[in-house]
Amino acid sequence: QATLLEVKNLKKYFEIRGGLLQRVTGYVKAVDDVSFAVQRGETLGIVGESGCGKSTTGRTILRLLEPTAGQVMFDKIDLAKLSREEMRRKRKDIQMVFQDPYASLNPRMAVADIIGEALPAHGVTDGAEIRRRVNETLELCGLTAEQGQRYPHEFSGGQRQRVGIARALILRPKLIIADEPVSALDVSIQAQIINLLQDLQVQFGLTYVFISHDLSVVRHISNRVGVMYLGRLVEIGFAEELYENPRHPYTQALLSSIPRTDPLAKRERVILQGDVPSPANPPPGCAFAPRCPKAMEVCKTVRPEMTELSKSYQVACHLFRTE
Ligand code: SF4
Ligand code: MG
Repeated sequence: QATLLEVKNLKKYFEIRGGLLQRVTGYVKAVDDVSFAVQRGETLGIVGESGCGKSTTGRTILRLLEPTAGQVMFDKIDLAKLSREEMRRKRKDIQMVFQDPYASLNPRMAVADIIGEALPAHGVTDGAEIRRRVNETLELCGLTAEQGQRYPHEFSGGQRQRVGIARALILRPKLIIADEPVSALDVSIQAQIINLLQDLQVQFGLTYVFISHDLSVVRHISNRVGVMYLGRLVEIGFAEELYENPRHPYTQALLSSIPRTDPLAKRERVILQGDVPSPANPPPGCAFAPRCPKAMEVCKTVRPEMTELSKSYQVACHLFRTE
């Protein structure tokens, strides 16, 4: 299995400005030294509470936000170093699906025009060819050519997300970053959209980064899962292992709050104390220390680095230090 995407030491800091002169008074470290790799054809889930930096990670990979530091190797090219024009051309290979398709669909455009909008910029200018591709993609996403003539407000939430997926699919990308793609939908509709994403993945050999706060949804679709807390990746590994045997106390707490499929397996419910600290002023050691039931002295001062438990499993926690 070859690596398609490798994110290395990615950082995205936002300036905080204050006072009369609006001087920079600090930084929100929304993404703080995040590294991971995604293999061709797999789905990497990224989970965490809102504000943990998972959306910012996705947007920074796509250069919808400029990275503060780090590398984003995609097919051996560093996306973080591309010019705007080069990056625009790369959009053929990397697309994004958003949480709220309605907000990202132009209400004045017919759905077929929304879906085909990017084709001319990528060399497909013939009207008949555009129509053919749009209709084919509509069908692949469970919509009809006739529906393509309608406007976004005429569609249900689930259908709008199908339009959002069709728009991402039309250029036949290699990678799709989906940011909470089903979070705004009813549970019954969620399953349909997840099934659609999985069918398209098989059919086109797509690679997904699937971002969600919902651990159940992520488990269903992901081969591997990464857990983020306050701008950092704290645990990453194969989904089965992570869900059955979470190592990081934060992952354990998150998982203890969702119902278990195996009623005989005992897992004590861990109630997290306190709020997520501000990313503008994170604790100096482990960011999770103020809420961690297993915190030790060292956790307050020394930041835990990612440790390999096996080739395919990493955790950042002092409980797993190897030395
Ligand atoms: Fe808890 Fe310490 Fe591990 Fe952080 S490093 S999760 S505070 S045990
Ligand atoms: Mg988000």
